[in-house]
Amino acid sequence: MLSQKLHSAINAQVNAELWSAYLYLAMSLDAEAKGYKGVANWFYVQFQEEQAHARIFMNYMNSRDAKVELLPIEGVPASWDTVLDMYKQTLEHEKKVTALINNLAAIANEDRDYASINRLNWFVDEQVEEEESAREMIATVEAVEDNKYGMYMLDKELAARVYNVPSPLATAAE
Ligand code: MG
Repeated sequence: MLSQKLHSAINAQVNAELWSAYLYLAMSLDAEAKGYKGVANWFYVQFQEEQAHARIFMNYMNSRDAKVELLPIEGVPASWDTVLDMYKQTLEHEKKVTALINNLAAIANEDRDYASINRLNWFVDEQVEEEESAREMIATVEAVEDNKYGMYMLDKELAARVYNVPSPLATAAE
């Protein structure tokens, strides 16, 4: 059984992951409106990944017989000045998510809840990748943003990003 504290904290994390999904969907729509189809695709894949993160937590709660309570999802911005601003906010947001995941891991440690620690370890690793990828995107956009051809080529490259089902969901489907 999950402790009450961990149960509510993971339930809140489901909401945080869905809010992340909402944020990246808004960025995808705004990028598309600005004519960047590839950037829109990159953020759409991000949107799908965040929904998968919420699903992984919900599956885990179900498997631990912990009721999921879906809470209201707060609104998100509708537009950003530049593509660079989107990636800068992505990095800032992912740092906050990392802090939330670390907090969940700390509670699971206090509880000596080894199953939860194992599940959360996947998210700890995932957050390292999320921050790294946002930092790389910032560096890439900064390198080309003043050059129309550079942005055109980058947009083409980002159009190729595809969504891969995260391993905890791929395993669950077996
Ligand atoms: Mg996430």
